[in-house]
Amino acid sequence: MATAQTKVRPKPFLFPQLCKACGRCIDACPKHCIEFATEIDPQSGLTPIVVHEDVCNGCGLCFDACPEPYGLMPRTADFEGVDMVVSDPYTTFGARTHGAPQAEDIPDRPVPLPAVEPMVLKGNYAAAVGAMLAGCRHFFGYPITPSTEGAELMAKVLPEMHGVFVQAVSEVATVNMMYGCGGAGLRCMTFTSSPGFSLMLEGISYMVGAEVPGVFVNVMRGGPGLGNIGPEQADISLMCRGLGHGNTHAIVLAPSTPQEMLDLTMEAFALAFRYRNPVVIAGDGYLGQVSGRVTLPTHLVQPGIPAWAVYGDAMHRGNLITSIYIVEADLELHNEKLNRKFADMEAAEQRSACLECDDAEWLVIATNTPGRMAGGAVQQLRAEGVKAGLFRPITLWPFPVDALVPLLERARGIVVVEAGPGQLEDELRLALSKRGTMPPPIHAVRRHGGVLPSLAEIVERVRGLTEVSHG
Ligand code: SF4
Ligand code: SF4
Repeated sequence: MATAQTKVRPKPFLFPQLCKACGRCIDACPKHCIEFATEIDPQSGLTPIVVHEDVCNGCGLCFDACPEPYGLMPRTADFEGVDMVVSDPYTTFGARTHGAPQAEDIPDRPVPLPAVEPMVLKGNYAAAVGAMLAGCRHFFGYPITPSTEGAELMAKVLPEMHGVFVQAVSEVATVNMMYGCGGAGLRCMTFTSSPGFSLMLEGISYMVGAEVPGVFVNVMRGGPGLGNIGPEQADISLMCRGLGHGNTHAIVLAPSTPQEMLDLTMEAFALAFRYRNPVVIAGDGYLGQVSGRVTLPTHLVQPGIPAWAVYGDAMHRGNLITSIYIVEADLELHNEKLNRKFADMEAAEQRSACLECDDAEWLVIATNTPGRMAGGAVQQLRAEGVKAGLFRPITLWPFPVDALVPLLERARGIVVVEAGPGQLEDELRLALSKRGTMPPPIHAVRRHGGVLPSLAEIVERVRGLTEVSHG
């Protein structure tokens, strides 16, 4: 009589601290032999699953269902004697794809938009429209003046578009929801204003460390502290130099019109995913509230899914998003990789706009709403015969020093105009210093506390400088 040889199928094995308690294996098990444990795991803070092996037939469906790269695994001899308290599974097991096929990028797809007449939109609404046209369907945030209209529009429209709007309980909740959503490879954003942005910095540091994209629209208001809801530019240092702890940078885009609020927010998503990094839109309270003519682009974006995403399907099962590197040498290597990425951003992503700069002897440097005042001042000065020009940084980090330096050859003076205590001037001076460029004398027009520099103040300052130089 022939005897059939039975192949023993391995039963599941799980380090409980690595279970994210998603419950997918419970749904997948045809024998109903998996359930949640009754106690929280002290290492993960979650309630992991337990497997009743006496009922399990080793079919393996739970391994396939588990999205965690180091979650449910077939029990093999490799696990004999392994310490159950594993702090770093990558080091212990090496790269693990769980047998999943190698994920590939699903690219974005441009979709033509029907031509429509230009519309008149508030800056905040324009940024929200730009986000939706860029494929953003996930918003996390809360109302905070003067950015509230952005969240308001997203709350109204996203549910109609099968999107998700979550009014988060706090800024910390907001940024950590963005961390998770961006880690899944999805386009997410928030609208906030200065004190709210301050509270998000720790989470932004985690996003930079874990290379997670996301877009933060910071409609800056008067500070410090609670301040007021008038326009200021006093978060420039925070956005350019202080994005939480550690080695962090993010591209900071500074729009000056509602049109740029839309265009730059669309671009922010492309940059966030190109570099796997947060991107900040630096608006100001006046720009968020003011209405202006806005022309829609010719295409919207149907977003793809990047290969690196922890998307939750079989294809992306082998991916891991983390900012923890226990071994010092590993963290140093990671920081060197981030530094190369920051250097690439500095080389490729500087943006600026010029008005009458070609033969300018007096360069006015301003951005956001003060940039518009400065544009009017330059036109008035030109009408008086003064060779003035406006250099408007559109990226605050990286500062657009490459375009500025050639203009300094004929400049007799610079006037930095800002609604703040000199943080734009600090960025200018630092960029020139790193470049080894000695600037002409730098002067300032500064207002604070929600007060904008006026056209007349700028004209008077430049006119005064020309009189001194002629006298
Ligand atoms: S191997 Fe099959 S029977 Fe066993 S726990 Fe997993 S899904 Fe259930
Ligand atoms: S599928 Fe994986 S992560 Fe989810 S509950 Fe089961 S073991 Fe835990």
